[in-house]
Order: sequence, then structure tokens, then C-alpha cells
Amino acid sequence: MDNLPSLYPFQHHSAATSMQTLLTAEQLSEGIDRLARDVRQAYGDGPLTVVGVLTGSVVVVSDLIRRLDGPVRLSMVWASSYRGTATRAGRLDLRLDLLPDLTGQHVLLVDDIFDSGRTLEAILADLRGRGAVSVRSLVLLRKQGRAEVAIEPDFVGFDIPDLFVVGYGLDYDGAWRHLPHVAVLDADDIATGSVGPVGGVGGARLRM
Ligand code: 5GP
Ligand code: MG
Repeated sequence: MDNLPSLYPFQHHSAATSMQTLLTAEQLSEGIDRLARDVRQAYGDGPLTVVGVLTGSVVVVSDLIRRLDGPVRLSMVWASSYRGTATRAGRLDLRLDLLPDLTGQHVLLVDDIFDSGRTLEAILADLRGRGAVSVRSLVLLRKQGRAEVAIEPDFVGFDIPDLFVVGYGLDYDGAWRHLPHVAVLDADDIATGSVGPVGGVGGARLRM
């Protein structure tokens, strides 16, 4: 991989294996199987409009919809809480202009992780004003003890401890989304800035 452009963000892939794995690819696959069953049980065989939240939900959405029998539409919205290199969320920025007409549809909003819950709360509030028959939400991960809102997701893949995680769609400063598993990023490394998009290349310390 030495001949790749220096800005190519994924040349640190081997460093990923030294991060602590929280959920293996197999556990994630079983979790998505379970979520797909639960979703179909709730909706029956009727048509469903899945709305994914870019960018973190792309992996869970693509795995989930391929397990949902029956008619499924897919649309995406975009959200960012300007987290960047910080673990605390900043101002929430939403772009919902790609949404089709949702009148009369059953809508399932899908995100990667429920942390404070503010992202899901804000998008759900908007979706509820668009004439859908029903609006529910699904998250792959829910962090324990972090919620700042009164709502809860209708479907949850895994409850996890209050740790900063990457992989399976979740990023740290744009990197690590491509990992097939979910790994924990060390809080000290985040605080000192010793990991980043090219973490592991420049002598970054990643917890075993
Ligand atoms: P909330 O609005 O629930 O506080 O945050 C939800 C969003 O914050 C997620 O969609 C995700 O982008 C980001 N986020 C929260 N916790 C984590 C985490 O542990 N790892 C990563 N990579 N992103 C997180
Ligand atoms: Mg996100």
C-alpha cells in the first residue's frame, strides 16, 4: 500500500486490528437478523419506507434492507452534530431535502447510534410533519446512560457502555467507517489527539 496517495485515509487498516473489538462481524450480523425479524413483525408484509441518516447508517441500512422481505423504499437524510475530533456533540446540522413525499407511508428512520438522542429526536420531529401513516426509529447501537431526550428508539440492535466506538459505519474524524466490526477508541488517545484519520501510521497509541 506504500504507493497509495499519502492522503488516502485507509492505509492504517492494519492498526484497526489492535483496537479492542466490542462487537464482531458475526455478532453484528446476528443483530441485524434479529432487527429485521422485529421490524417485519411490527409492520407485517406491507410497504415500508426506510430513511437512513448519512453517513454513519450506510452499513446498517444496506445490511438491514437486504434482510427485509416485502416492498421496501429507501431514502437518505444527512445529519452532523459537528463532533469532529470531540466526543461531545455540537450544533446539529440537518439536510432533509432529499426526502421524497412521505404521505401515506410507513416510515422507519435508521441511524447508527443513539447517544444523546438529539439527532433522532430532531429528525423524527420533522418526519412526523410530512403526512406519514407511522414513523418509527431503529438504531444499531444505544449508549447507556447518555440520553438527553424523552424519546427512545423503537428498535435497538445492541446496548453498549459509554465508550467512543468506530467501525461498521461509525467514524472518528472521517476514518474507520469501513471496519466490519465495532471497535472502541481509547478515550485518552482521543483527548490527547494522538489518533486521527491516519491513526496508527504516525505512532498513534491504540489500546489492545
Ligand atoms: P446524538 O444526537 O444521539 O447525541 O448523536 C448521534 C450521532 O453522534 C451519531 O449518529 C454519530 O454520528 C455520533 N456519535 C455518537 N456517539 C458516537 C460514537 O461512540 N462513535 C461515533 N463514531 N459516533 C458517535
Ligand atoms: Mg451520525
